Amino acid sequence: MPMSPDAPDASDRTLKTLGAPSLAELRAAGVVPSREELAAHPCVCVECIEEIPCNPCETSCPQGALTVGQPITNLPVLDRQKCTACGLCIPACPGLAVVIKSLEGDRAKIRFPWEYLPVPAKGDRVEMVDRLGNPVCGGTVVSVINPARNNRTAVVTAEFPAEYVDDVISMRRL
Ligand code: SF4
Ligand code: SF4
Repeated sequence: MPMSPDAPDASDRTLKTLGAPSLAELRAAGVVPSREELAAHPCVCVECIEEIPCNPCETSCPQGALTVGQPITNLPVLDRQKCTACGLCIPACPGLAVVIKSLEGDRAKIRFPWEYLPVPAKGDRVEMVDRLGNPVCGGTVVSVINPARNNRTAVVTAEFPAEYVDDVISMRRL
């Protein structure tokens, strides 16, 4: 059977070989928002494309925007119409697979989970990284929240140049 033109080639299949999905794998799974969507409103990105028994994203969402259902190994399905970008699913995900991204002009913003110490502070200049931890670009921390309900998973918001919005997923440890 001919391969779909959107199917990742062997070098892009990093989920199994390196432990993190490539952008091509995520695009093939349909979980990467378009630039137009990112410019229109903050978009939750659920980069969970492996069938594992897990559903805290579903149970943490007050809007019913994320559904795993039964069996619990189903991949989460996002209903963007219901999502308010509240961010509660970010610290709830044990796989650190949920972030929220947006575009404003030439700047991108990302809200991501952070479980290392030290926790960054507002105004810190940081290095943004891709899904394999490779440096992508410089960024600036614009907020950090770490309420008790997060059970020690802080949520960091950072901004960086818009051109890197698809690649950036987190920041390098301080
Ligand atoms: S950001 Fe909030 S509303 Fe959107 S899926 Fe996550 S928990 Fe639900
Ligand atoms: S909580 Fe995270 S790892 Fe678990 S199913 Fe949801 S997105 Fe995937």
